[in-house]
Amino acid sequence: MAQHNYQLQRFVIFFRAPHNPSCQQYHYAKRLMRVSLSVFGVLLFSTGVNATAVDTQTQSNTIAFIILTLILIILLLFLVHRQRQLRRFNYQLRQSEARYARAVKGTRDGLWDWNLQTNQAYLSPRWKSLLGFKDHELENHADSFYSRIHPKDKQRVESITQAHLQGKAEYDVEFRLKNKDGKYRWYRSVGEVERDEQGTPTKMAGVLSDITAKKQKSDHEIWRNKILELTSKGEALTHVLEEVIYSIEKENPDMIASILLLKKDKLYCGAAPNLPEAFNQAVDGVEIGVGKGSCGSAAFLKERVVVEDIKQHPYWKNYLELAEIGGVASCWSEPIFDSSNEVVGTFAIYHRYICSPNDFEIKLIENAATLAGIAIERHLTTERLQLASLVYQNSSEAMLIFGADRSILAVNPAFESITGYTADEVVGKQADILNSEFYEQHFYDAMSMAVKHVGQWQGEVKDRRKNGEIYYKWLTINTIYSDDKSVYRRVALFSDITERKKSEQIIWEQANYDSLTGLPNRNMFNDRLHQEIKKSKRDASGFGLLLLDLDRFKEVNDTLGHDYGDILLIEAASRIDESVRETDTVARLGGDEFTIILSELDEDSHIESVAQKIIDKLSEPFQLKEEVAYVSASIGITLYPDDSDSFESLLKNADQAMYEAKNLGRNRYQYFTHSMQDAAQNRMRLIADLRQAISRQEFELYYQPIVDLRSETIKKAEALLRWHHPQRGLVNPSEFISLAEETGLIVDLGEWVLQQAIMQIGEWRERISPDFQISVNTSPVQYQAKNGRKNRWLSHFKKSKTSGNAIVMEITEGMMMDASNIVADQLIGFRNSGIQVALDDFGTGYSSLSYLKRFDIDYIKIDRAFVKNLENDPDDRILCEAIVVMAHKLKLKVIAEGVETEGQRTILKSINCDFAQGFLFSPAIDNVAFEKLARSSLS
Ligand code: C2E
Ligand code: CA
Ligand code: CA
Repeated sequence: MAQHNYQLQRFVIFFRAPHNPSCQQYHYAKRLMRVSLSVFGVLLFSTGVNATAVDTQTQSNTIAFIILTLILIILLLFLVHRQRQLRRFNYQLRQSEARYARAVKGTRDGLWDWNLQTNQAYLSPRWKSLLGFKDHELENHADSFYSRIHPKDKQRVESITQAHLQGKAEYDVEFRLKNKDGKYRWYRSVGEVERDEQGTPTKMAGVLSDITAKKQKSDHEIWRNKILELTSKGEALTHVLEEVIYSIEKENPDMIASILLLKKDKLYCGAAPNLPEAFNQAVDGVEIGVGKGSCGSAAFLKERVVVEDIKQHPYWKNYLELAEIGGVASCWSEPIFDSSNEVVGTFAIYHRYICSPNDFEIKLIENAATLAGIAIERHLTTERLQLASLVYQNSSEAMLIFGADRSILAVNPAFESITGYTADEVVGKQADILNSEFYEQHFYDAMSMAVKHVGQWQGEVKDRRKNGEIYYKWLTINTIYSDDKSVYRRVALFSDITERKKSEQIIWEQANYDSLTGLPNRNMFNDRLHQEIKKSKRDASGFGLLLLDLDRFKEVNDTLGHDYGDILLIEAASRIDESVRETDTVARLGGDEFTIILSELDEDSHIESVAQKIIDKLSEPFQLKEEVAYVSASIGITLYPDDSDSFESLLKNADQAMYEAKNLGRNRYQYFTHSMQDAAQNRMRLIADLRQAISRQEFELYYQPIVDLRSETIKKAEALLRWHHPQRGLVNPSEFISLAEETGLIVDLGEWVLQQAIMQIGEWRERISPDFQISVNTSPVQYQAKNGRKNRWLSHFKKSKTSGNAIVMEITEGMMMDASNIVADQLIGFRNSGIQVALDDFGTGYSSLSYLKRFDIDYIKIDRAFVKNLENDPDDRILCEAIVVMAHKLKLKVIAEGVETEGQRTILKSINCDFAQGFLFSPAIDNVAFEKLARSSLS
């Protein structure tokens, strides 16, 4: 500006030259000289004419001449002096002009001179070259200037010119002129009007300078401020970016600008208010890479990509349709960098015609990209900060920030709500004020050490709230370091874990204690047993493991219901617990199974007395509300380390011993022995073999005749299962039925038996007698289908078309105890199909008459035990007779089992027993032998 003023002064001096005071002096001097010369001439002439004529006069004339001559000399001297002065002045002027010319040339300004009367203008070559023209390419005419003014600036230029001509304003104006290349640049023109004597403006002259760069700089400054202002006001990023775009598009109407944002190698629309929506949508999400349009390529290459002609450029090969949608022909794209030089987006300028950027436009793009970069980065930072602040404010975790000197700087709302202390109460205080009373100083020393050395500490801390309430927190302390690695801040974060701890405690209890009895459960027992083994190993001591199962508990549960069963279990648990020392462990493993660890045994310990004490206590009556129930207990005992020192085998031993106690008649204890182990192993092997026996066709049905005592003919057969074991030979049901029941294999086996029997009865009804019957043994397990399989008896019947009364199903009393309707429903199913039902082993169980009535039984089979003593025990004889009488009253027929002697048969016949079965007639035999026997009995 200062330089410009200087130029302006020079210019003014130059153009004001005619009015310069020293120039006027020069004119006066010239005129004076002219006057002096003419006076001198006149005098000379008059002297020459009058010299001879008058002598006196000659004298005075001479004086006059001398005076005149002197005057003339003085005049001449003055003139010479003036002329010198003039020459000096001219020299100075020329110097000044030359200097100015040099200055003008140096400052690259263009000169103009405009004759207001003729409208002729002088435009210096420099003036023209500022617009990109050679001297001869532009006419020296005011129109060469006026026609090139940007339409938007024209009005302003004209009004300033008018104001200046009217003497109201300086002529100093900025405007855009169209250059030779058709593009506009910014210029500043400064000039001054010249007027004639009447004050009428005659001409204007001045200088023109290119201010594009400066203009850009100040525009950029304005934008920058505006963008920063918008950003700091928290304006949406799109809005800010649109502002960048509007600013550019306003100044450059041919340009369409767009800003894309880069996120994870994909570009997303940031702002492009003047591109068609369809175009923006198509661009949104485009992956970057070379050949992905101008922007995709620029973002990938991290450098400006100028595509003058989209149609011809390889980068746009796949996007020609898109260009069509956008109506664009050229695209220059500039990557937008953030302050750490990462590409965060692209700034692009589109034109509807093919074109390439000039310096000005390149600068423009760069500036815009820089600005957009600032806005984007600011936005991202703000977003991050806002997020951080949101987290801080809204976190349910308490946060406390303190300095290297341990003074508390800030706490968040969660801190206040968890501890009950407000920020005012703690900020500024030392962090130590928050130390919990529940820990000694060394706890905090250790914490400080960790924080000091590794910058971090975390752990559970018990503390007290302001209101005195105890709570637990999970505390983490972290350190934030300064650039010089010194401690800047420490951040303590903690969450209230009181509730979690409570529920963890509940969960732990649920996981380790039996909710019904309050005893440790299987889980806890396992832990304790492991611990006991470890401890005993260490101390070289021993312990006893007892496994206890309540006998007949199931019956209580089934007859009185689960509520009563539960009361019994609670009571039983406390009786067991009372029988042992505090140090022993009593656990409930589930159902009616308990276990006891009798720890630290020595020679004087009497395990059996403890076991017996428990058995005695449990055999005492249980008062269950209004009912009284009796149970007993079977206990298996194993010893560590005598029997075993491993967890698994100790459990197995106790189980086998308990099993043995049951086998031996219950209500007793049994020590583990190694033969038990052998028996158990045997069982395991048998079970394994049993699983394959059906598919290997190792089973066969034998038949035992059932004889009508009146006609003495074979009327029925009981099907009895035999297993031809490949190694053991013929295995009797007593050895494997219970295993089949335990493993659920009985369901398949039972179906096989029924199918065999159905097949057999079809043949025998033809060949022996049309009303012949086969009775089939069934196990309670088969009715319960507890292995997820229901029996398919009835469907087997339907398939075979055998009439129902050809088969008698033998059931046991125990089965009828089942309180559920499953058994009853199936028996009703039998009844509806005409199948008859026999109650097996009558007399050994409950022998309840109510069951007989309820379950619609056809036959009673008196157990072998009663028949055995018929001849020598009058009680049994009376009992048998009573059973027969009662059965007949209930319209049931009676079958006597295990008839071995003639005497037994005679008695049974005499007491009106209907049928008999036993070795007296025949043991169970195979079907061929049976058929022969039956046919011969008939004939
Ligand atoms: P159970 O139903 O009481 O069958 C009668 C058992 O007494 C048969 O033993 C038979 O051989 C035996 N027996 C018959 N007459 C006499 C006799 O005069 N004196 C003596 N001491 N015993 C006699 P088995 O065949 O060993 O069957 C034993 C038990 O196995 C059966 O007792 C029955 O409960 C069960 N069983 C047999 N086959 C099956 C079957 O297919 N399914 C089911 N669930 N159980 C079966
Ligand atoms: Ca039977
Ligand atoms: Ca029987």
